[in-house]
Amino acid sequence: MSIIAYAEQRDGVFRKSAFEVVRKASELARELGLPFYAVVIGSGLTEVAPSLGAYGAERVLLIDQPELASFAPAAYAKALSAAAEAKRARLVLVPATAQGKDIAPRLAVRLDAAFAPDVTGLRVENGSLVAVRPVYSGKAFATLAFEAERQVISLRPNVFPAGAPEDDRRAQVEPFAVSIEEADLRGRALEIVASAGKLDVAEADIVVSGGRGLKGPENFWMIEELAALLGGAVGASRAVVDAGWRPHAEQVGQTGKVVTPKLYVAVGISGAIQHLAGMSGSKVIVAINKDPEAPIFQVADYGIVGDAFEVVPQLIEVLKKTVHP
Ligand SMILES: Cc1cc2nc3c(=O)[nH]c(=O)nc-3n(C[C@H](O)[C@H](O)[C@H](O)COP(=O)(O)OP(=O)(O)OC[C@H]3O[C@@H](n4cnc5c(N)ncnc54)[C@H](O)[C@@H]3O)c2cc1C
Repeated sequence: MSIIAYAEQRDGVFRKSAFEVVRKASELARELGLPFYAVVIGSGLTEVAPSLGAYGAERVLLIDQPELASFAPAAYAKALSAAAEAKRARLVLVPATAQGKDIAPRLAVRLDAAFAPDVTGLRVENGSLVAVRPVYSGKAFATLAFEAERQVISLRPNVFPAGAPEDDRRAQVEPFAVSIEEADLRGRALEIVASAGKLDVAEADIVVSGGRGLKGPENFWMIEELAALLGGAVGASRAVVDAGWRPHAEQVGQTGKVVTPKLYVAVGISGAIQHLAGMSGSKVIVAINKDPEAPIFQVADYGIVGDAFEVVPQLIEVLKKTVHP
C-alpha cells in the first residue's frame, strides 16, 4: 500500500497547492509508515519533476505524454487512477483547486474509493484517517471517518502549510506510461483565459481587496493600481462579486478562496465572519475603512480609519514616488 499526491502544474510551473498536497502526503506517509509518491501529469516536465523533493517527495511518478499537454479531466483522472492502482494506493490526495475538483470525484468512482472533498483538516487517529470539512456553507464542520479501503481526499488550498522548501533536495523520478484514447480527450482545456496576465489571488504573496465601500465597479481602478504597485493580486468581498462588480475568481472568503499572503490590504470591507474565514491567516493585515467600529479592525495589524477615496489615492502617490519613482 502507498499514498499518492497529485502535484498540479501549469505550463511547467508547480502550483502552490501542489507543494501543500505533497508536504501533507509526506507527513501522513511517515505517520502511517507507507511509501509515498507524488504524481506529475503533463508534457515536457522531466526537468521540473525532481524539484518536488524540496517539499518532502522522495519519489515522483512522472506521466509525461504529448497528449496530456493540456488539462483533460477524464484523461488526467485515468492517469492518476492508473498510478494509484499500480502503487496500490490507500490514499490519494488532490488539491481542491478548479482542476482538482474536476479530477477528484472521477477518481473516487474509478477507484471505488471514499471521497472527502475540500477538507480543511486531516489527521491520523489509531492508524485511521480523520478528515474535517466545512458543511452548510461553512456554518459547521463535519468530522469524517472512513470505512472504505481507499480514500480520495481533496485539500482546500492555503490551509495546509507547504513549509519552507529545501531547495537542494531532489526527488527520484520514475517514468510511468498510460494509454490515453481519443475518448479520454473529448473534454480538454484549449485556452486559459481568466488568469492570463493576472496573478491568482490564492497564489499571490500580496493581496489588495476591495469591498462595497468602493461604491461601484468603476472605482476599482484604485484597488488595481495599488495592487499593481505592490506587485500583488486583486481580491474582492462577496458583496461586490454578487453585485457583478468583480469576477468570482477574485472572491476571498468562506465561499471564495482562502488566502494566506504576506500582506493583505482590505479596502472598504466590513470584515464579516465569512470574509475573515478566507483571509485571517494572512501574515500582516492592513484595513482601510471609514467606520472605526468595522469588525475588520479586530483582525488588522494596521488600521486606517478614513475614506478610501482619500486614503488610497494618497497611498498610490506615495508608492509611485518612493517604490517606483
Ligand atoms: C453562507 C455565506 C457565505 C459567505 N461567503 C462570503 C465570502 O466568501 N466572502 C465574503 O467576502 N463574504 C461572504 N459572505 C458575505 C458576508 O457575510 C458579507 O455580506 C460581505 O463580506 C460584505 O462585504 P463588504 O464588506 O464588501 O460589504 P459591507 O458589509 O457592505 O461593508 C462595506 C464596508 O465599507 C465601509 N465603507 C463604506 N464606504 C467607505 C469609504 N468611502 N471608505 C472606506 N470604507 C468605506 C463600510 O464602513 C463597511 O464597513 C457570505 C455570506 C454567507 C451568508
